[in-house]
Amino acid sequence: MRPGPATRSSAWRRAARLARIQGQRQSHQVPLLHRQRGLLRGLRIALLLLLLVVVALGQWQARVLVTAWESPLWVVLHPLAADGSEVAAQNVAMLDAERVAPLEAFFAREARRHGVAIEQPVVVRIGSVPESPPPLPPVDGGALGIAWWSLKLRYWAFALDADGLPADVRLAVRYFDPERSRRLPHSLGLAEARVGIVNAFADQDYHGSNRVVIAHELLHTLGASDKYDPGSNLPRYPDGYAEPKREPRHPQQLAELMGGRIPLGNGEAHMPTSLDDVVIGTASAREIRWLE
Ligand SMILES: [Zn+2]
Repeated sequence: MRPGPATRSSAWRRAARLARIQGQRQSHQVPLLHRQRGLLRGLRIALLLLLLVVVALGQWQARVLVTAWESPLWVVLHPLAADGSEVAAQNVAMLDAERVAPLEAFFAREARRHGVAIEQPVVVRIGSVPESPPPLPPVDGGALGIAWWSLKLRYWAFALDADGLPADVRLAVRYFDPERSRRLPHSLGLAEARVGIVNAFADQDYHGSNRVVIAHELLHTLGASDKYDPGSNLPRYPDGYAEPKREPRHPQQLAELMGGRIPLGNGEAHMPTSLDDVVIGTASAREIRWLE
């Protein structure tokens, strides 16, 4: 039942009158209070920024070590049923090494193609189902809201360090029943922080495209940038193309991992359903320090 508008507005009027009277009584205190509040807010922002700088510096150092590619990068996936459905829960329970093995094979193949000496650049392991879900980005939190959320997400990943599996990168994989959710929220990978959130469909038909999204977000955590137009979702030429020199240019046969889709021409592109149809292009390989 909705509250009666008359009751609500008269209560508001009373509260407003009271506030006006109190405001008149305390008017001499207002400038001081304002100054104190402003000072406190400034102090809070300064502390948050300082914390962010310290965290970012530490993580930048760690990324330099990780992307030296002298030893395998350990990636741990933490699956969870994001929509609380039985289908998603079953999917989480059945996630096994066999399903993530193509990810390891993909990175080994692409590293070899770029002449990186390491035989197995990426090891993927399935970690615990987290007790609490990862914090999601604020819908319109502004720069400070985003900064605060990114600290919370880092802390979420840090708290999982206790689960026994060592990790260079932790990715939450949130599964959704495709019968309930036709579209997924945006997945994300935090550069420098080596933590990401992947949204995936809990259905066998999507296992291949889920792996493409996992690989894409993993590359973000290592410093690679998107290579598609955010308005149209079309891969950007030439960096977002798997074979930029191909003649004729369209249709392409493969997707560049950070371009995200296979460009077909005429403003069309489609999502690859398997890592077999994806490569890591030169620009992305440079960003993750596979190439000079
Ligand atoms: Zn992206």
